[in-house]
Amino acid sequence: MDNWFSVSKIDDNTFAINEDKHWEETHCYLLCGVKNALLIDTGLGVANIKKVVDSLTLLPVLVVTTHIHWDHIGGHKYFENIAVHEAEKDWLSIKFPIPLQAVKHNLVCKPCDFPLDFSIDSYQLPKISPQQILHDGDCLDLGERKITVIHTPGHSPGHCCFYEPERKYLYSGDLIYSGCLDAFYPTTDPQLFWQSVKKIQHLDVERVLPAHHQLNIPVNIINSIEKAFSQLAGEGRLEQGNGIFDFADFQIHI
Ligand SMILES: [Zn+2]
Ligand SMILES: [Zn+2]
Repeated sequence: MDNWFSVSKIDDNTFAINEDKHWEETHCYLLCGVKNALLIDTGLGVANIKKVVDSLTLLPVLVVTTHIHWDHIGGHKYFENIAVHEAEKDWLSIKFPIPLQAVKHNLVCKPCDFPLDFSIDSYQLPKISPQQILHDGDCLDLGERKITVIHTPGHSPGHCCFYEPERKYLYSGDLIYSGCLDAFYPTTDPQLFWQSVKKIQHLDVERVLPAHHQLNIPVNIINSIEKAFSQLAGEGRLEQGNGIFDFADFQIHI
């Protein structure tokens, strides 16, 4: 295994699998229960994330998808049991919203020390049909560990956060992170993004586990992001095409 991925131990049964070398600084999460393991997202797909997963658990793995953007589904091809939200159930097979050329451009637009056997010319988006469909409120039982699906559209129509009430963890995908929050392209919706932030704001959360950039972020960033959206809405500026707004620990691109 090359060292493309790094692993951060969140607790004894929870791991972040990071792609720190790439500008996206993507994080996937492996949650081990007693019967099953859950892998939240599979990253860029430039190296085999399954090898890392196999080194951490022997349990059967269900892959759940925060949303079908190229930087979260690249490694889906290595797994057999995949779940996506109903609003994006066709995106992996027929309706991927961004052309492959644009994805390739994004993947290599900044200097990066890619794995030696990676070739941008042969990079493909996975074309697969999910085995399971996720709905808001679904409970995923890993055996002595339960995860709730929370549908949080806005960044994409089928975006989901995953909430673990017992540990008070929120796996926040591209809804909450410290970086540029994107709601500027056609399949995004800034108003829905704001509603989704409000939806998760009332959960009892002690740790936010984001899909990009800094791994340790304060829980209070949820309130700061909600306040920023609220401010933009109050000023009549929460409309697509208005550009990038800079706040202390994040930006909002609409
Ligand atoms: Zn995304
Ligand atoms: Zn992303």
